[in-house]
Amino acid sequence: MKSKAEKKVQVRNAFLASVVSIVISAGAALVAGFVLKLGVLCSILVFAIVFALTLAALIYVWKTTDLIRKILYLLYCIKHPAKSRRFYCSCCNRTLEGFIELGYSKDSERFDSKRFMKQKQDVICPFCYSAPRQRIQAVWLEANMSTVKDSRILCFAPEYSMMKWFRRNGIKVTTADLFDSKAELKLDITNIDLPDESYDVVICNHVLEHVSSYENALTELNRILVDKGLLIVSFPLDEGLDTVFEQEASTPEYRIRLFGQVDHVRIFGRDSAEILTSFGFDVQAINISEMPENILPVVGPADYDSNQIYICRKVLNE
Ligand SMILES: [Zn+2]
Repeated sequence: MKSKAEKKVQVRNAFLASVVSIVISAGAALVAGFVLKLGVLCSILVFAIVFALTLAALIYVWKTTDLIRKILYLLYCIKHPAKSRRFYCSCCNRTLEGFIELGYSKDSERFDSKRFMKQKQDVICPFCYSAPRQRIQAVWLEANMSTVKDSRILCFAPEYSMMKWFRRNGIKVTTADLFDSKAELKLDITNIDLPDESYDVVICNHVLEHVSSYENALTELNRILVDKGLLIVSFPLDEGLDTVFEQEASTPEYRIRLFGQVDHVRIFGRDSAEILTSFGFDVQAINISEMPENILPVVGPADYDSNQIYICRKVLNE
């Protein structure tokens, strides 16, 4: 389910694509009517056909290539000269004047606005929509390229920003999701239909707070990794909690009140590294204080977005 903020971006993109299609098809209809003298009906037909073809082409190019984003970034760079672009998105490799707010805090149907009040909201990349945690992960991957290069990588619930990082570095990733039809594999993370030791690296960002049993998920993630394989994992983490907080919550309103987001069923606490260790991993937390300031490694946009990412190496079986 998409948030209001994400739907707003989709509506804006659809509006822009429609305007461009109308301008191009109106031009074609004018040529048909006044230059080729094809008559009113034919001109209307030309308008309709060119509009449909242009819109379809724009949607195809947007979904399958980075061309339109490249054009938009070129226009952005003309408007914002290099010296004003002090920030950097490590996912899409673009310098920026600043990050943007997507309005999650105002989406009361999905989020608890109180959990956003004390955090910085303008933390999203305007081009690949990366949040701080994805940019932190991209910086870590860049510095640890040998761990992912030439590895079999499985990514649950793939985020566009992370896939962008892998694509631009020429690294193949297999994507998996239980509900997203665009993912290559349809997998239930609590009961993964894959053989033991199938992958060298598994990436699992913000999935464990949604599933029925995080214990089953971690057992399965450990099972499908080779010995010494890596699990790169992150989830909502509230530094104010001693341990993971979960409770039966059958209504959306109650889940928002308890966990801050309508589709969350738990929040993790300060003992997250110990929990991961107990499932058979050597656990290292990425040190956020070592991150470059221009990727804006802050907590946010919600207070449970601590942006802590764990690098978990499967302990060698005795
Ligand atoms: Zn970006």
